[in-house]
Amino acid sequence: MKVIDHINQSEKPLISFEILPPLKGRGIQSLYDHLNPLMEYKPAFINVTYHRSEHIFKKRLDGSFEKVVVRKRPGTESICAAIMNKYNVDTVPHLICGGFGVNETEDALINLNYLGIDNVLVLRGDAAKNESTFEPEPGGHQYAIDLLKQVVNLNEGVYLEENLKNTSKTKFCIGVAGYPEKHFEAPNMESDLRHLKAKVDAGADYIITQMFFDNAKYFSFVKACREIGIMVPIIPGLKPIYSKKQLTILPKTFHIDLPTPLSEAVASCKSDTDVEKIGQEWLLHQSKELKESGVPVLHYYTLGRPQVIANVVKDLL
Ligand code: FAD
Repeated sequence: MKVIDHINQSEKPLISFEILPPLKGRGIQSLYDHLNPLMEYKPAFINVTYHRSEHIFKKRLDGSFEKVVVRKRPGTESICAAIMNKYNVDTVPHLICGGFGVNETEDALINLNYLGIDNVLVLRGDAAKNESTFEPEPGGHQYAIDLLKQVVNLNEGVYLEENLKNTSKTKFCIGVAGYPEKHFEAPNMESDLRHLKAKVDAGADYIITQMFFDNAKYFSFVKACREIGIMVPIIPGLKPIYSKKQLTILPKTFHIDLPTPLSEAVASCKSDTDVEKIGQEWLLHQSKELKESGVPVLHYYTLGRPQVIANVVKDLL
């Protein structure tokens, strides 16, 4: 079932989770162990992130270097299928521009359609580890909107091969990313919102936000979106803090701020067990306020601490 249908058919805020595929070498059981404590809270859907391959240089015996392509977390499509099969829940694979040519993207979409997956979250992806700015594959997509248009085309039965006749239409529900604290490359919020609106005008059904720790940022983002005519559901993305290291890692990686009361409380903790407690309380407080405000879905990034998320959702319901 499509994410947008879940939203439209529900009278109260839904719950959804986001997971990463297991690291290469770890079995599917590690994923089920991660999800098991969360499934009793009946998520409407589960997002599965996509991780592009990296180039690394491996030293040969003769001292020279060999360029090797490594993918640490393969298998988004098959992970989605496995989750649907085991838990009978909808999944949302993330699809990115980076590392894909348009033909590979089309094949990936065809595979997802065969698997009965009704949803995709379309993203640009970040720059590859060895590049300073995002570079598309030759002939690949530069921005998420270009990938989105390819999905919209397939939904209309338009494939890359122009002379195909009587083509079968896909029916993907399409989500896109939004940034309450602005995407880090955008020169200003106005420009970022303009590009977000373009994605919605081109066919995005809903937006999921980058994580934020200050609900005021989400509320003013939604207001700014509505003012420029972005009327689709805007799903808040939420993540718990559970270690002191996150005080520097989260702002650096995701270009977000941590509110002073939260950062000071975390900084004064003696151990990460204390941080986890603070993080859980903060997330519960955020979730309650967002729920009361009538958000369509509370979307939790579960990486690292599924039990913290389970505790929060238990107290919330
Ligand atoms: P875009 O919408 O293409 O925007 C990128 C930048 O370009 C923005 O600054 C925007 O303002 C600007 N822009 C957009 N269109 C134009 C245009 N036509 N001309 C000029 N500028 C333009 N990354 C992964 O690799 N895998 C994942 O699974 C993943 N999941 C994510 C899930 C969520 C909910 C979020 C919020 C992010 C996720 N990301 C993931 C990270 C994402 O790929 C990066 O944030 C990336 O840098 C931007 O992706 P985007 O889809 O927002 O890009």
